[in-house]
Amino acid sequence: METRPSDVENRFKSPNQAIRDVQHFGEEGGVVPVIDVAATSSFLHPEDMERAFHGEVEGCYLYSRHSNPTVVMLGKKLAAMEGMEAALGVASGMAAVSCAIEQLMPQGGHIVSSRMVYGGTYALFENVMPRRGIQVSFVDFGDLSAVERAITPQTRVLYAETMSNPLLGVCNLSALSVLAKKHGLKLVVDNTFTPVLVSPARLGADVVIHSCTKYISGGSDLIAGVILGSTEFIASLIDVNTGTVMLTGPVMDARVAYELYLRLDHLPIRMAAHSRSAEFMARRMLESGVRVIYPGLEGHPDRALLKSILNPGYGFGGMVTVDCGTGQKARLLAARLQDEKFGLYAVSLGFSRTLMSCPASSTSSEIPEDERSRMGLTEGLLRLSIGFTGDDEEMARRFMTCYREVFSI
Ligand code: PLP
Repeated sequence: METRPSDVENRFKSPNQAIRDVQHFGEEGGVVPVIDVAATSSFLHPEDMERAFHGEVEGCYLYSRHSNPTVVMLGKKLAAMEGMEAALGVASGMAAVSCAIEQLMPQGGHIVSSRMVYGGTYALFENVMPRRGIQVSFVDFGDLSAVERAITPQTRVLYAETMSNPLLGVCNLSALSVLAKKHGLKLVVDNTFTPVLVSPARLGADVVIHSCTKYISGGSDLIAGVILGSTEFIASLIDVNTGTVMLTGPVMDARVAYELYLRLDHLPIRMAAHSRSAEFMARRMLESGVRVIYPGLEGHPDRALLKSILNPGYGFGGMVTVDCGTGQKARLLAARLQDEKFGLYAVSLGFSRTLMSCPASSTSSEIPEDERSRMGLTEGLLRLSIGFTGDDEEMARRFMTCYREVFSI
């Protein structure tokens, strides 16, 4: 049993309220739904199975690589959160990027992508997509005229991340959407860093993807992704003849979908808590003379842009980057911070505890060195995904103690 408002209603709600208004009951009226782990479903009448294969039977489940009731249920809640028509959970964030792009570009063609994308996405675009007839130009998305100049007759997609890693630049999604519409392109947005904070569909994105491994999970205990878009586009991903998810197979397990379904209820609270602790930490660092990048600080070049697109009440996000000058200093600081139980030296983000990594030698290492230096992505950057556990004052004190020790100040 299910109660769910329409997509049109969701567009005007806060993500928090939209999540709240999706309710699935368990059997016998349970306040949580049941997990349906079946890999395959039975049919009372053989002719219905044939019709189901041709997409002619509504609400019928065939086989869980095609669709699964628990994964469908999660999709409805995620679609509500993003104010989009439909969503499909997949096995990872990378599965979301690759399947969405290939579904949009069955004949190949050209993508204009932001230069500041996650290193795995960069490597996929640079090394794997060309094998599939897709060429990618990387452009500074802060320069809209450069974006427009890069568009060719073969271009099909503009690809952006709402907030970039690790310099925390912000894309002007509304302006990109205007460009996309002018040239008949699809705007695809990776919103992994800013779930609930920013709703790209409200700003004109056609397709939104997330790595659910990060904030949406919040537990650093599973790998998952989601593709969101129109009902028609999401259905095309599982078409038995042409669907990239159906036919390349990176589907989401029902148990993972169930976990995420429950965790979505506290995602808005977690995002606000991440933002609160990150802003506290960034301000304390700034006051103490640390070279800190945080989009909520008055000196950040994209603060006004971010403010103009934020959903109110969730802050400026949980990511903070510190410029330590050299890779050696960044690693030394991270090691000291780990000793002091400030955080854990590990890639990824969105965990309840602080995670620290040096992007130039980890999550952005796939990006060639000359490209990294064009972006300003230097060896000395230490990226912090600020957790919300612990006392902000005490965590700031631990950071500053280690910082002063490493920099002898
Ligand atoms: N997009 C962004 C912005 C990411 O940071 C990541 C992973 O770090 C991905 C996509 C890929 O997600 P996953 O690791 O779930 O495949």
